[in-house]
Amino acid sequence: MTEAERPVLIPPGGARRVLLHSCCAPCSGEVMEAMLASGIDYTIFFYNPNIHPRREYDLRKDENIRFAEKHGVPFVDADYDKDEWFRRAKGMEWEPERGARCTMCFDMRFDRTALYAHEHGFPVMTSCLGISRWKNMAQINDSGHRAAKPYEGLSYWDFNWRKGGGAARMIEISKREEFYQQEYCGCAYSLRDTNQHRREQGREPIRIGELYYKEDPK
Ligand code: SF4
Repeated sequence: MTEAERPVLIPPGGARRVLLHSCCAPCSGEVMEAMLASGIDYTIFFYNPNIHPRREYDLRKDENIRFAEKHGVPFVDADYDKDEWFRRAKGMEWEPERGARCTMCFDMRFDRTALYAHEHGFPVMTSCLGISRWKNMAQINDSGHRAAKPYEGLSYWDFNWRKGGGAARMIEISKREEFYQQEYCGCAYSLRDTNQHRREQGREPIRIGELYYKEDPK
């Protein structure tokens, strides 16, 4: 789909100002370009204390900042309160992905996003987390709506960013921009479980900071 063919997106209530929770450049690239194409004024809110270790966190954040700067999009770099994330994850270390630990993880990130939206006058918040086919979109949307609910005048926009070619464009943009390509969801437990899976397949463990998206050879 070309830029000209992109549908015009209308956030809830026709709002023109949106706070976009972003986890990384690959997941937010398509969401960012889709909103830009629709003339939506948005700010990126980067709050991901789940990402472990620090080097991986910095890699993901720096890629996201690089792309935001390229498009002139404001970027809010929020806290890395990982101790609180680990505290909340206690007892859920062996939960599978998409389970209770992930609900906690989405809730923590979205609660902070909703508070920032409320304090800074954003009528709508959304997230790129659901664009990944590895994620349970209903689980993410439930967290988003739960987070926005306490604040009058704040809505969570549960737009399906995968549809209309969004999932394919996410990969195209990642290759075009040669984004850092993370190989696990983000937390210490997803790193452990992904490495375990790779070991069972006879593959090398993840080497942080080494894999980048590449354009397909012509
Ligand atoms: S697997 Fe991903 S979503 Fe689930 S707790 Fe870990 S970082 Fe959060």
